[in-house]
Amino acid sequence: MAVRTILHYPDKRLREQTQPVTEFNEELGRLLEDMAETMYAAPGVGLAAPQIGVAKRIFLVDIATGENQPSDLRVFINPEIVESTGEVCNEEGCLSFPGVHEEVWRAERIKVRAQDAKGASFELEADGFLAVAIQHENDHLNGKLMVDHLSMLRRRLVHRSMMKRAASEATV
Ligand code: ZN
Repeated sequence: MAVRTILHYPDKRLREQTQPVTEFNEELGRLLEDMAETMYAAPGVGLAAPQIGVAKRIFLVDIATGENQPSDLRVFINPEIVESTGEVCNEEGCLSFPGVHEEVWRAERIKVRAQDAKGASFELEADGFLAVAIQHENDHLNGKLMVDHLSMLRRRLVHRSMMKRAASEATV
């Protein structure tokens, strides 16, 4: 297992289209382990494969963030949001946008269809924070980022602060 480097906006790999997973083998298992370790080390409540430079349709979510809560790790492979209803606005963060928190509108309730680590299909109905996390991570698989949901003004502000951050990281 290894903690992988998380790509930060404006890394172009975050915009890449992803490929479906076709083989549920040991290599996939190792990738999932690395993704989980990377997510927990960050720490974060979700991580999509493109965030570590892997252009595959995979993301993980674990919204049990408190130290006293048991882990609630969920793996979504080749996911598809098949139903979404309602609207809700929440403050969101993203491991690819360190230090950025923005209000984002999402569907309130969703139904997602996906495969697990062994390739078995499942369906899950979610609302609340879990539904928000799934929609956020699912966006990553389509090259879509948190900023794409913001007004032009907010998007410009976030872009500018991330560019400043990238520039200072490049010089140290
Ligand atoms: Zn994200």
